[in-house]
Amino acid sequence: MKSFVAEEYDVVVVGAGHAGCEAALSSARMGMRTLVVSITLDAVAMMPCNPSVGGTGKGHLVREIDALGGEMAINADKSSIQSKMLNTAKGPAVHSLRVQSDKQKYHTEMKKVMEKQKNLDLKQAEATEILVENGIIKGIVTRTGAIYGAKAVILVTGTFLAGKIFIGDVSYESGPNDLRAATELSKSLRKNGIALRRFKTGTPARVNSASIDFSKMVEQHGDAEIVPFSFMNDLLDFPQVPCWLSYTNTDTHEVILGNINRSAMYGGEIEGPGPRYCPSIETKLVKFADKDRHQLFVEPEGLYTDEMYIQGMSTSLPEDVQVAFYRTIMGLEKAELMRPAYAIEYDCIDPTELKPTLEYKKIGGLFFAGQINGSSGYEEAAAQGLMSGINAALKIKGEEPFILDRSEAYIGVLIDDLVTKGTNEPYRIMTSRAEYRLVLRQDNADLRLTEKGWKLGLATRDRYERYLSKKAQVEEETERLKTVRKKPGELKEFLERQESAQAKKALSLYDLLKRPELDYAKLEEIDPNRPSLMHQVVSQVEVEVKYEGYIAKQKQQIERFKKLERKMLDPDMDYSKISGIRLEAKQKLNSIRPVSVGQASRISGVSPADISVLMIYLEQKRRKAKQNG
Ligand SMILES: Cc1cc2nc3c(=O)[nH]c(=O)nc-3n(C[C@H](O)[C@H](O)[C@H](O)COP(=O)(O)OP(=O)(O)OC[C@H]3O[C@@H](n4cnc5c(N)ncnc54)[C@H](O)[C@@H]3O)c2cc1C
Repeated sequence: MKSFVAEEYDVVVVGAGHAGCEAALSSARMGMRTLVVSITLDAVAMMPCNPSVGGTGKGHLVREIDALGGEMAINADKSSIQSKMLNTAKGPAVHSLRVQSDKQKYHTEMKKVMEKQKNLDLKQAEATEILVENGIIKGIVTRTGAIYGAKAVILVTGTFLAGKIFIGDVSYESGPNDLRAATELSKSLRKNGIALRRFKTGTPARVNSASIDFSKMVEQHGDAEIVPFSFMNDLLDFPQVPCWLSYTNTDTHEVILGNINRSAMYGGEIEGPGPRYCPSIETKLVKFADKDRHQLFVEPEGLYTDEMYIQGMSTSLPEDVQVAFYRTIMGLEKAELMRPAYAIEYDCIDPTELKPTLEYKKIGGLFFAGQINGSSGYEEAAAQGLMSGINAALKIKGEEPFILDRSEAYIGVLIDDLVTKGTNEPYRIMTSRAEYRLVLRQDNADLRLTEKGWKLGLATRDRYERYLSKKAQVEEETERLKTVRKKPGELKEFLERQESAQAKKALSLYDLLKRPELDYAKLEEIDPNRPSLMHQVVSQVEVEVKYEGYIAKQKQQIERFKKLERKMLDPDMDYSKISGIRLEAKQKLNSIRPVSVGQASRISGVSPADISVLMIYLEQKRRKAKQNG
């Protein structure tokens, strides 16, 4: 193959999956001449697994991507076929939006946005090599010999990189959905000193809806009020399609356990660890042997297909066993499998080799995002893609990097967990991973981040003005609630009807809203002249008033956290020279090279005692420097 110089770009993105789309769009929107290549353009924003966006923790990421000026939320709103706010029985910190998506529409709409984006070229091509000179990235080479020069390259290869599919004892090189795998690039990465390891994930079979008896299942509906993912949209209105709930049973378990040694996972074919929070059905039966049934959801893949996704039933058992066990399930007795379930193994890196900007520490201008960093999930990939695109553009412009810390965003929690703690299995975001989750709610992502997106040149003027208007309305309405006061007499009947304690003195609407049994809607009865406010504003005011105390307490904790985050560390410091720090900690600090004392304190193997020694050392150094003037 004869190579030829095709073109020079600022940024080249290798992969147009969920990470690749956000990386390419953010880089192009920040003015970088950007190229995105994909082995096939049919994989642009492809959903190889669950036909849904969002869920616990993931919904927060989608809102944050939107608030910064990313595309995922807008695309999810365009292709939603069912919408549900999860965990509404719990506190607002864990309320998470989840939508069922029409996969084909999600792909088509995102591809259209990419095709129309200024500064962005989208091409079908397979990157087979990265070009590096003196530790600096220079570009890529494709399978057809095209050389694309670049000041930054972002690798977002997902589950395609040295992808290998497993169905029982059958395995073959392939990307998801039997698309071609990327078979060459790994060699080039290794040649450039990048260590790779194997991770795996799995997906269930797709069953033809005509072969399913839905009358034997429990219909699951979306919410009556359709809350949008994007802050750019008001309440949505579209016909929703149902999902269905069913369960495995002892027959199912018997078939699976009777053939478990034929599973690629349990037959020892697969070496990579899989996602703990999306386990295969055989793993569930092994781990939770006491359970006599496991729930599963039958989810439509889209409006113009009869393919149904069987959520909770991923497996790497052989096809004959799959047919046998699916047909033991209530409603699936005559199931026609359109696509078999499979597991896929792929190459990924150790994310502790990356800076918090997602730039590779040892090759300047080379960034990684998404599944290749050891995460799992469309949302996790998209969040990293966005941040890598932003930081590649800022690096080329010679501007300060953009890093979100753990108190500012779930994106900050995700990236810090990956680059500081690393992961030995596919990493999934969860609300329990965020220390400051009461402040990092999905409903206030725009109030936390849109100002930053505007300063980066990513958030549009329309988005910025919407944010300013919401912010002003929230502040005005909160103030108004404090000023409108009601005498005990005026409240008597209302409080009786609401079974709420009678007032002993005049109370403001603000005081009343704090009462758990009262909410903003109920107060309308005694507040008829209120302004008509957007749904987003009302939910904001309600949460901020009701959780005022907790939020204030969490903000104090954040202040303490930020103190250590602001203590920056010299990236070239040699920790082996600091006596008093334990050997393991010295090794970890020298390999991860934390940017701050805060990050250092989160590295596994670095103890609080090590951090105290480090703090003393830094203080002594500061004093000495001061003395020496
Ligand atoms: C079988 C399966 C099961 C899954 N199960 C789950 C699950 O249970 N839970 C969950 O949260 N997530 C799951 N996922 C993961 C989810 O799909 C991914 O997390 C998400 O798609 C990752 O996004 P990404 O952008 O990193 O990569 P992908 O979406 O995989 O996109 C990669 C892109 O890179 C391109 N590409 C790769 N190599 C090259 C190259 N050399 N040259 C040019 N283009 C290239 C591809 O064409 C594609 O466009 C599953 C995925 C699969 C395949």
